Amino acid sequence: MAVLWLDDVSADDLETVGGKAASLGELTGAGLPVPPGFVVTAGTYRTFIEEAGIDEELFAAMEIDPEDSAELKAAEETARELILGADLPESVADEILEAYRSMGGEEEAFVAVRSSATAEDLPDASFAGQQETFLNVREEVLVQRVKECWASLFSQRAIYYRQQKGFPHDEVDIAVVVQRMVDADKSGVMFTSHPSTGEPRIIVEAAWGLGEAVVSGSVSPDNYVVDRETATVEEVTIADKKVMMEKDPETGETVERDVEEDRREKRVLSDGEIERLVELGRLVEDHYDTPQDVEWAIYDGDVYMLQSRPITTISEPAGVDDRDRAGDVAEEATGGPGSAGNAGSAGKTSEAAGATDGGNGDDDVLLRGLGASPGIVSGTVRVVTKLDHLDQVAEGDVIVTEMTMPDMVPAMKRAVGIVTDEGGMTSHAAIVSRELGVPAVVGTGSATRTLEDGMTVTIDGDKGTIRRGSAAERGIEEHEPVEAMRPETPVKPMTATEVKVNVSIPEAAERAAATGADGVGLLRIEHMVLSLGRTPAKYIADEGADAYVQELVDGMRTVAEEFYPRPVRARTLDAPTDEFRELEGGEDEPAEHNPMLGWRGIRRSLDKTDVFEKELRAFRELWEMGYDNLELMLPLVNDAEDVRRAKSIMRDVGIDVDKRRWGVMIETPASALAIEDLAAEDIDFASFGTNDLTQYTLAVDRNNSNVAGRFDELHPAVLELIAEVVGTCRELDVDTSICGQAASKPAMVDFLVEEGITSISANIDAVRDVQHEVKRTEQKLVLDSVR
Ligand code: PEP
Ligand code: MG
Repeated sequence: MAVLWLDDVSADDLETVGGKAASLGELTGAGLPVPPGFVVTAGTYRTFIEEAGIDEELFAAMEIDPEDSAELKAAEETARELILGADLPESVADEILEAYRSMGGEEEAFVAVRSSATAEDLPDASFAGQQETFLNVREEVLVQRVKECWASLFSQRAIYYRQQKGFPHDEVDIAVVVQRMVDADKSGVMFTSHPSTGEPRIIVEAAWGLGEAVVSGSVSPDNYVVDRETATVEEVTIADKKVMMEKDPETGETVERDVEEDRREKRVLSDGEIERLVELGRLVEDHYDTPQDVEWAIYDGDVYMLQSRPITTISEPAGVDDRDRAGDVAEEATGGPGSAGNAGSAGKTSEAAGATDGGNGDDDVLLRGLGASPGIVSGTVRVVTKLDHLDQVAEGDVIVTEMTMPDMVPAMKRAVGIVTDEGGMTSHAAIVSRELGVPAVVGTGSATRTLEDGMTVTIDGDKGTIRRGSAAERGIEEHEPVEAMRPETPVKPMTATEVKVNVSIPEAAERAAATGADGVGLLRIEHMVLSLGRTPAKYIADEGADAYVQELVDGMRTVAEEFYPRPVRARTLDAPTDEFRELEGGEDEPAEHNPMLGWRGIRRSLDKTDVFEKELRAFRELWEMGYDNLELMLPLVNDAEDVRRAKSIMRDVGIDVDKRRWGVMIETPASALAIEDLAAEDIDFASFGTNDLTQYTLAVDRNNSNVAGRFDELHPAVLELIAEVVGTCRELDVDTSICGQAASKPAMVDFLVEEGITSISANIDAVRDVQHEVKRTEQKLVLDSVR
């Protein structure tokens, strides 16, 4: 038997049907109005993986280091491929479809397909919300959705969570509930006791349409407080319910629409409906003997119960045993952390994030990624999927997006935190958020799907975690990223090796200068260009060459002015075609399989001299204006020929190459090996771009999270290239510098100072630490030499 009807299921069947189905079966058995449905048992899943012969490979794929996000992702992908790639025996598929058809009603019934893992909702380890749920499913995709639920047992989050909790992967099975959808007229959540104090007060939240609007927090629901003993309605707060969710009758998809004007501020629940809900609330709490968090819906005047879970947010006074909790807490209630207002947030996050405890442990970690910009902050999630949603980002929001783009910078400035699905430590999001001083976690894989609009989260840009709830609730101290360079900290240490700072957006110049850095080691002009929203060619075509030059002059001048007379090393354009493609005019960009190996840096400049010349003109104008602290740097050169050609164009534009300071980046092994030839072109400096040098030496795409674990700037091959170049340049009297992300790593700093590098350019937030690290290493070298 592949399926069991909910009528035949009870709490004793946990092993066979998982937590969610057991609970729905219990409710059905207790006479509560649960929409009809059946369960594809956990045994069916187990038999499937065994008979398909994928079980061993599946569990072997889970033997990974859960802290390694690339491994975690690979494990998830392998599981999906194995499960979705294997055929379900026809007899099982038939049984599922037959049960679906016999559920009563018309042929095309819409059903909800929900995962019900056997380790879900256990007292100590709430796994709720980690596996998939599909709404409005019809016959043609039903079997596929069941398999997708199975595969979701191996989501990254679920794998990580089980490792943390010490649950063996092969001991957790998954059942799937298939249940008739209730096409709700109104719906919401109900707490059968006060969710933070445990008082005998029933709190009901209600809105028009389907419950997702309330659960996801996209609408502020009405709030009703009812005395559980007397059923007296004590408080009614009517909200302005601007939107509602409903099923599109054509596609069956859940869509959001505006509520009609005259219903927005209308009370959702009648006294009779409240009475019925209270009656059900009492029944369900009595049945379980513990306060419950219930999702309910009303269709055609009938109340249905969709889900019920124990409330896990009630603060428990010491010595009170579970059974007596509700009553005892009521007498001792003092308000506790979180008041009635918290009822809503507890409900809103319960589906998305699981109903775990509110402690400060790892249980609250919803997602992990790379800590790309330090600091700990709390804020409201704002998922940005389209650029025209950016104006919805308010002060204090956390931007959650697939990947940031230059157009997002204004919104990024308003945000308190930034979370992305994609990107590494050198991605746009990482660079810009560091410069803005906004904590960021990048490369989470699934933030735009896992986090929901309106949720409160705490992001830790040092550790790369995103936790549910505010820092205050969690007992975590918020801190700003720039702590280390506040004036009250010790004054800047004097070092022989110069310590500079990287700047990409002119707006960060002031903050960068305040670090006391010895200058700017890298000013990336591509961020100025990308923020114009048009490709250089398009901008020049629309606005004219002078306007383009002026934009560059203004951007570079802001930084040169702020640092004067400290040197500012600006780099000519180095944006890959895939970044240009996002801009207006980007449709003309060539499609490249591998933009990192493609038309970028000096290669492009030498091919498109018309654009390159405009950049060079901007440098010339600034020099002529007296900004003699400006230096020019050429990106991604491979050999002396690249430099010769660039130099010739510089001369053509009227730059006196003998008078001005200019140099090259060492970003490819070829350039490192050709350093003597490059020096012979009279460069003033060579600066290591370790982001690219590592990428090209190790053949590891710097933006590909699958191989992030292999991106090692301290790899001996990279260090050997660097050491060779520093040694040669010392002999030839050429300055050396580093401006890649690795300059912020103490081990790299030690190595470079020992080799004799001239300057180190770090991220704004790292400057102070690098200054100290340089000082320490220099003192050690001095001591070693005299001992
Ligand atoms: C580098 O490659 O290390 C570098 C500083 O340049 P970018 O990150 O802009 O490619
Ligand atoms: Mg580079």
